[in-house]
Amino acid sequence: MSLLQVENLKAYYKTEMYGISRKVRAVDDVTMTLEANEIYGVAGESSCGKTTLIKVLSGTIKPPLRVEEGSVKYNFRYGPADMSTVSEDELRDNIRWKEISYVMQGSMSVLNPVRKIMKTFEDIIATHEGIKNKADFKVRIEDHVKKLGLPPDVLKSYPHELSGGMRQRVAIAMATVFKPSLIIADEPTTALDVVVQRGVLQLLKEIQADSKNTVLLVTHDMAVHANVADRVGIMYAGRLVEEGSTEVIFQNPSHPYTQHLISSLPVIGDKTGKSSLEGTPPNLANPPEGCRFHPRCPRAMDICKTQVPAMQNFGAGHRAACHLLSAQGGQQ
Ligand code: SF4
Repeated sequence: MSLLQVENLKAYYKTEMYGISRKVRAVDDVTMTLEANEIYGVAGESSCGKTTLIKVLSGTIKPPLRVEEGSVKYNFRYGPADMSTVSEDELRDNIRWKEISYVMQGSMSVLNPVRKIMKTFEDIIATHEGIKNKADFKVRIEDHVKKLGLPPDVLKSYPHELSGGMRQRVAIAMATVFKPSLIIADEPTTALDVVVQRGVLQLLKEIQADSKNTVLLVTHDMAVHANVADRVGIMYAGRLVEEGSTEVIFQNPSHPYTQHLISSLPVIGDKTGKSSLEGTPPNLANPPEGCRFHPRCPRAMDICKTQVPAMQNFGAGHRAACHLLSAQGGQQ
């Protein structure tokens, strides 16, 4: 059974100022499934809707963001949950941290700068589970960080005493302390240098392999997806434009935007210049008609300016939405 089913999700930012209404279609008709025990990568440039998607999936929707249509349904360990009907109490008591946890870019956002790491663990566990026996709690946390390859001494440190990489490892340790069904990792390595980045990604992979939970890895960095993800979904201007196994996405991408992302990656020994895409991502308050990529697409046709390409299936979980692919016999 899948962990998560997202159907035709539309999540918009709606504002009204001085009588002028504005609607930013940040996530527009996204359908996707996350399986248990997989690492799913979401890729795409800034403003493609990645962050809004995370907000909806984690149930952190605040005005002006609103879910306009569609559904987000989980099969958690304690039972099914429809995110359109779960109460704030259920989110707090049963879902956040215990079933869905979050690793964000810049660990200082979750670490309290004036509390030692052990105290922050204490705050999290006291809030979500309660602490009956302090000695047992201490052993549990020490065992947890040791299992993740962290020296137990980090628990006695303040966040500012740790390096950026160590802080991010601590943030991952916090996000996994309840062994959640889903870990959402939002640009978890963006601020780190390459060597530290490798260590943090390796840690995420090991945790997933050990706990058999699901990781939703959101980053614009295609090299990270190539190294870590089992499947990758490519977003452009609020829409999922291609999805497939990591091998298919990197070795046989079908959508022109995915092809551009892959061809931009550096190749050792290749000294030829890389061409950049003309133009900028569209304003999602007034996105282009038809295929939203058409103003930048080197292969755009007349039909692309008026008709939204349907998502077509090409087997083995490979899907893409592009009029060029209609002749290839995909199924809608
Ligand atoms: Fe390019 Fe048209 Fe395909 Fe969009 S539908 S990616 S504009 S060819």
